[in-house]
Amino acid sequence: MKKWYDEEYEFVIEVTGFLNSDKTEHYCRNGEEIGDKYVCTYGCPVNKDGQGICSKCMMIMFPVMESVRSGGDLMNIGGDSPYTKDIVCPDGCVMFRLTARPLGNENFHKGGFWGKE
Ligand SMILES: [Zn+2]
Repeated sequence: MKKWYDEEYEFVIEVTGFLNSDKTEHYCRNGEEIGDKYVCTYGCPVNKDGQGICSKCMMIMFPVMESVRSGGDLMNIGGDSPYTKDIVCPDGCVMFRLTARPLGNENFHKGGFWGKE
């Protein structure tokens, strides 16, 4: 893989708790534990051991990440600050806290990185 565009935002996703149990057995097959931390820019989030976040929760997280990339304010969709939002995996057990951080790089589309050679 050759990442050629310096992304505008970094995301840190931390496991903060469980809704329906004190563990993920029989709820989420990915086995997240409280305190697990996943980091990404545009690729899917991985932890320090290179393990990927539960893929099912990406259905929820991708649109939230896109709203940040579009210049949005997460408070408008229930976040507690413009760049933080709590999210529950569709399995209904693992609770995540997503934090976005602007990296100061140029926007992918407005900067002309898309579709230009
Ligand atoms: Zn899950």
